[in-house]
Amino acid sequence: MGYDNRFKLEIKDPFIKEIEYKCIKCGISNISGKFCQQCGEPLRKEEVKKYSPETLINNFRTESEDASALIKENGECSQSGSGHDIEDDLVEFSTQYPESLFILTATWDSGFGDPPTTFYIKNGKTQTCEATYTYDKFDESKLK
Ligand SMILES: [Zn+2]
Repeated sequence: MGYDNRFKLEIKDPFIKEIEYKCIKCGISNISGKFCQQCGEPLRKEEVKKYSPETLINNFRTESEDASALIKENGECSQSGSGHDIEDDLVEFSTQYPESLFILTATWDSGFGDPPTTFYIKNGKTQTCEATYTYDKFDESKLK
């Protein structure tokens, strides 16, 4: 019998900002320096945004065996399993995209009774948050 852990992955700020230098006249980009080498016009600095959540999830799934088995392309859980390495894999993966926040939510095998855990992972660092249970106060009118 395998473990019945379930994982879900969300990504906030999936876009990496990259600076490109572009010549408006020639339409040439990715040139470093202040002036176009072709026409001598001053280059314009532009922020280019790359990567969608789907791209990042897909890249993660190609790098992590656990992720490809347990997480769907849209980040939802595809099937339950151990997922033993998934958090470590994601921590390592996140350093490639330092501006993005990865939110991994784990619902653990009910046999262990652990509350669900959310891992906030950014640029190789993790904040681990366990769900907390709250109980309603005693209310005599609710006695049955
Ligand atoms: Zn030019």
